[in-house]
Amino acid sequence: MVRAPARCGTRAGYNAHRRRGEAACEACQEAVNKYMRGPTNLARRRARGRALSRLALIHPDLYAALYSEELTKEGVEFPRPWRRKESGRR
Ligand SMILES: [Zn+2]
Repeated sequence: MVRAPARCGTRAGYNAHRRRGEAACEACQEAVNKYMRGPTNLARRRARGRALSRLALIHPDLYAALYSEELTKEGVEFPRPWRRKESGRR
């Protein structure tokens, strides 16, 4: 069975353009822009951020190592670890 080609003006159309290694047409680009600004994508991004924060608390060393690797790929230094300032109180 052959799938119908993705229609332009949809996210599937956008992905099809990208898979073919070409720039998306205006209609497909607009469909993706609309999705990226939409409430579903924003909710997913917020949820992903919270899930990553929780995962980092469970596996702090692994998270730090992966984060450092990804920052290196971006050409950015790993931030110095946050430390509680020493105070007289214990
Ligand atoms: Zn298109």
